[in-house]
Amino acid sequence: MSYDENWPPTPPRRSGRGNLTIAIAALVPTALAGWLVWESMSGPDENEPPKALPSRSAAVGKPAPPVTPSPSATSTTASPSPSPSKGKPGASGPLAGRVVVVDPGHNPGNFRHTSEINKLVDIGTNRKECDTTGTSTNAGYTEAEFSLDVSQRLRTLLEKQGATVKFTHTDDRPFGPCVDERARIGNKAGADAVISIHADGSATGNRGFHVILPALVKAGAADTAKIVGPSRDLGERIAGKFVRATGSAPSNYVGDGTGLDVREDLGGLNLSTVPKVFIECGNMRDPKDAALLTSSNWRQKAAQGMADGISSYLDR
Ligand code: ZN
Repeated sequence: MSYDENWPPTPPRRSGRGNLTIAIAALVPTALAGWLVWESMSGPDENEPPKALPSRSAAVGKPAPPVTPSPSATSTTASPSPSPSKGKPGASGPLAGRVVVVDPGHNPGNFRHTSEINKLVDIGTNRKECDTTGTSTNAGYTEAEFSLDVSQRLRTLLEKQGATVKFTHTDDRPFGPCVDERARIGNKAGADAVISIHADGSATGNRGFHVILPALVKAGAADTAKIVGPSRDLGERIAGKFVRATGSAPSNYVGDGTGLDVREDLGGLNLSTVPKVFIECGNMRDPKDAALLTSSNWRQKAAQGMADGISSYLDR
């Protein structure tokens, strides 16, 4: 993790929300606006766009389709399987037939299995620890608990739209899985989209969420050429919908205000052959972010933002 010592920049001073909206509206037709501007048009008032607007892509997500309950949809815990599963035959809804793999970051048991999770695995570009313990709030709410909770909420939301949802783990194992296995689970499921859910552990004052996209890497077992583009599309849509659903601002310490980061050191991304992103939902070590992350109401909004972003991507 690298930190920008020059952050935060001075936000643009504007005389009021009305002027801001007009200024944004004027920008949109020029195609200079990225996801954040588009989403901020109808987002919560506190989400003013950052000074540096992302201009490398103007992927604009369609609004999420209405939720249609699908009682027949049931969840599946993923297990490595030689034959890809392409959805439940009986499922209905806009995401019927689509497979989403949800990867709850870390494992609540990792703290008790440090020797196992410290074993190195091959991530293509490097060898890296099997997994880490993850972080926690100062009061002890762990990232692993957080990620499992949000993952379960996300599963419910996606299944209501007919998606088949598989987990990399459900706290049903003593530790792990390792990062390379997490990637393989998504690959073997033939996932249409994979999201790995995390919260960060950074310095107090560092706030906000960011979505991590795979870098273009080709080394050993890692070859992300086919997933870089679709993963960026997926990630941008999730970032935009996350802003809208939670009211949280993009990270003020990673990604220059875009809410997006690109990394080549994550085995879970390097080894993926299907579109995949990570999301760091906030900074557990910052008291204000921690207040959000420990709120079940906020976690539901976070899951909704992710579900909306994934729906937008799959329904594009
Ligand atoms: Zn994490």
